[in-house]
Amino acid sequence: MNWDVLRKRIKGTVVTAAEPTFSVARAAMVWNKIKPDRSPQVIVTAKNDNDVVAAVNFARENGLKVVIHGGGHTWCGLAVRNDVDLSTLNESTIDKASCTALIQPAISNRELASRLGEYDLAFPIGHCPTVKASGYLLNGGMSWNMSEWGPACLSILAVECVTADGNMTQRDYSSATLAVLFL
Ligand SMILES: Cc1cc2nc3c(=O)[nH]c(=O)nc-3n(C[C@H](O)[C@H](O)[C@H](O)COP(=O)(O)OP(=O)(O)OC[C@H]3O[C@@H](n4cnc5c(N)ncnc54)[C@H](O)[C@@H]3O)c2cc1C
Repeated sequence: MNWDVLRKRIKGTVVTAAEPTFSVARAAMVWNKIKPDRSPQVIVTAKNDNDVVAAVNFARENGLKVVIHGGGHTWCGLAVRNDVDLSTLNESTIDKASCTALIQPAISNRELASRLGEYDLAFPIGHCPTVKASGYLLNGGMSWNMSEWGPACLSILAVECVTADGNMTQRDYSSATLAVLFL
């Protein structure tokens, strides 16, 4: 596998199993201390959405299977495979007037609650402060206030995502109380 081809396309980092920093990067893919035995060939930490597209395209061209790593909070370590790691994508933009927010996938429950609090807004976050939005929302999102607000996924207005053929979907907002953007 020619990893240099991948490195040239990626603004973030590419760590292969042959490198000394790999064991630390691999361990970081799972939040708890129970680390699976299996090992990926490569971990790509995306710096932006174009990195995700590039990594997915490289994987497809080379017959590699990939998984996305959000915050690594699944107990069985689902994200320990050839990884596209989104953990540095944690920015948010909030619009108080429309009560909407754009968020990147790896913003945590704690960070999102704190940011929204600055505007007297709230979102149905989960109870664990370090869980990230991406896996939480894909899960449905069982929130603190679920009996009143429903699961978190019902407050998502639009999602921008990278498809397996390497295309990025376009944003399309209609009406909802909170727009959530994640890759
Ligand atoms: C201590 C603790 C407390 C929790 N509390 C709650 C709670 O209150 N409510 C609740 O609903 N859940 C809760 N959870 C469960 C948590 O929401 C799920 O485990 C969730 O999947 C974690 O997301 P992650 O991005 O951190 O995990 P990851 O392990 O990174 O990802 C989980 C799965 O989703 C996939 N994935 C992640 N991000 C993306 C993405 N952007 N695109 C495509 N696939 C992606 C991964 O490939 C993997 O298969 C809790 C978990 C823990 C450990």
